[in-house]
Amino acid sequence: MQLFAKDEKGTDIPASKAQREHSYFCPECTGPVRIRGGRHRRKHYYHLSHDRLCSRAGKTLLHIQTQLNIETGFPPGDITLEKRFPEINRIADVVLESKKIIFEVQCSPITAKEIAERNRDYGKIGYKVIWILHDSRYNKERLTEAEHFLFTLPHYFTNINSEGEGMIYDPVSRRNFDRRERYGSPFPVNLACSFPASGVKTFPGLHYREQIGNFYFEGDLCDLAYKNLLSEELIEILRDSSEEKRGLAYRVILFCKRIQHGIQNIYSAVLTMFLESACKG
Ligand SMILES: [Zn+2]
Repeated sequence: MQLFAKDEKGTDIPASKAQREHSYFCPECTGPVRIRGGRHRRKHYYHLSHDRLCSRAGKTLLHIQTQLNIETGFPPGDITLEKRFPEINRIADVVLESKKIIFEVQCSPITAKEIAERNRDYGKIGYKVIWILHDSRYNKERLTEAEHFLFTLPHYFTNINSEGEGMIYDPVSRRNFDRRERYGSPFPVNLACSFPASGVKTFPGLHYREQIGNFYFEGDLCDLAYKNLLSEELIEILRDSSEEKRGLAYRVILFCKRIQHGIQNIYSAVLTMFLESACKG
């Protein structure tokens, strides 16, 4: 699903302006898409064929509603949705051009490698990426590889539902190896209101956000810390969550998983060889 497609002349047409009898094409895979939705559901495009390897085709309604929810928090015209960056061959979910910020919404599984590649690609053209992870897959008891990787990188979570209701939020949680320990209620974040973090005093457990993100948002943990709105208990949890030992534990887990993966690969290679020779025989 997506919010933009091209018409036969190659012009970008937002879903809100598309007409049912017209032909439209995906800007990513060029496959044919059709419009649906209307009175009760936000209009969006869907792919006619599902066998294409296209990231737009796999997007869910939750993804689209989260994009739209972020957009509505900003003054009209500040946000561009599904902006194409041909120089790096990517389409960004939500772009705040004035601050060179990209909000990448993630509802489906993603590897640490893919996150690193997207951050690097957008970084090359001068954009910072804030990851918005959806509750449908993330912020569960066990941390995913993506969440481990993002633990000390700018990211928030969201519970926005298929009706578009919900919030972007910043939870207080601590890593206990690959399990998450939650503390208190999550804090709603206003993405439309950001502050430069350079020059503000370093806060234990949140310092990495200043170094990497260079800005923070109204209502997030940095903002609350600077306004002295966090309890001593939460401050202690944040301080503890940033300790290196938990990062080390994650690296050990990742190393073990790689070995496990390697063994599986060797096993399947040997099995293939055996089957091939058996067939020839
Ligand atoms: Zn496509």
